[in-house]
Amino acid sequence: MASKIVYNENLQKLNTFKVEASAEAFLAINSIDELEILFSEISKYNEKLVIGGGSNLLFAGDYSGLVIYPQLFGIEKTNETQDNIYLRVAASENWHDFVTACLKNNYFGIENLALIPGTVGAAPVQNIGAYGVEIERFIESVECFDLQENEHIIFNHSECEFAYRESRLKNAGQGRYLVCYVNFILNKIATPVLSYAPLKKLSEDLARNQKEATPKNVYDWVCKLRKEKLPDPFVLANAGSFFKNPTVSSDKFVKLKNQFPNIVGYPDKSDEKIKVAAGWLIDNAGLKGKRVGNVAIHEQQALVLVNFGEMQGSKILDLACDVMQKIKSLYGIVLEPEVRVLGIDLAERSKLIK
Ligand SMILES: Cc1cc2nc3c(=O)[nH]c(=O)nc-3n(C[C@H](O)[C@H](O)[C@H](O)COP(=O)(O)OP(=O)(O)OC[C@H]3O[C@@H](n4cnc5c(N)ncnc54)[C@H](O)[C@@H]3O)c2cc1C
Repeated sequence: MASKIVYNENLQKLNTFKVEASAEAFLAINSIDELEILFSEISKYNEKLVIGGGSNLLFAGDYSGLVIYPQLFGIEKTNETQDNIYLRVAASENWHDFVTACLKNNYFGIENLALIPGTVGAAPVQNIGAYGVEIERFIESVECFDLQENEHIIFNHSECEFAYRESRLKNAGQGRYLVCYVNFILNKIATPVLSYAPLKKLSEDLARNQKEATPKNVYDWVCKLRKEKLPDPFVLANAGSFFKNPTVSSDKFVKLKNQFPNIVGYPDKSDEKIKVAAGWLIDNAGLKGKRVGNVAIHEQQALVLVNFGEMQGSKILDLACDVMQKIKSLYGIVLEPEVRVLGIDLAERSKLIK
């Protein structure tokens, strides 16, 4: 059956915070051709949101605009060399299932990114990263449909403008480029990455037993750590880390270190700034576990806001703003949400944080 736009669609099942919000208009598409066919109708909406698994979104109110929900599936091997495998993966494939399938087929590199919720299409949008690996390292190009110009466009790696939890698709491209396929280059030769602190224990254990790390070790270890540390959104609604780790100048970091000797920070790879652990800032501010009504800061993970059954996303945003306010007054640092906040003018709201 041909897809059509429906109105006032409830988005509760399409966001892992499980808040109620409606989309003014909603379009689920099963093929890219449908985007071309429906282009004139799509163009009537100035505001557009492409939604995947909804695991990085907070609807703080209803969404005035068109939500597009792609249902594009398939994994295709496009090339193979002595060292590498080239895969073209459709946007709606489940991310973790893809990581697992790669491991089973001996396609290596992305095992550190196991168990991240969501879809393949969203992975390049915020350049997902975990345990010392960012996905950009394995992306050759991203095939998009331009919802503004009604045309197909391919961004090669450098055109994607990847940075820490950022890309061209997240910034100016938001609501404009619908990711249809991601082209990955994976390794046939295993090169496990164990440099990140939580994986050091794994490498020590293996060294003690005179064993070499394998991608399967890393995958299992990452899954175990994530299950221990992060609330499962199917059990306790959340959207992972709510805030990005902020960067500060080295001078500012020295001043903070004098005041807070245990502060956690590490050099930012892109420039001479220091990236500060936002979780530490929140924990040290005494906010871990803080609960207001049905929303809270997770008891083990200060970066994660959780929802015990609140239907209004604005209540989660209220708590996030309280955290931002407190962090600003205590450390002079403005936290920036990693989660995409919708249904409200966040810029206006941020002005309230003094
Ligand atoms: C428990 C938990 C743990 C998490 N851990 C991590 C982590 O370790 N590292 C990390 O980086 N993230 C993490 N996240 C955040 C989230 O899982 C990722 O950002 C994921 O890539 C979002 O995928 P999604 O399909 O749910 O995207 P959505 O939440 O639906 O959308 C996220 C963004 O991507 C855009 N988007 C989605 N699909 C497309 C598409 N096809 N075309 C164009 N734009 C699109 C949306 O418009 C939106 O801007 C975590 C989340 C949870 C709940």
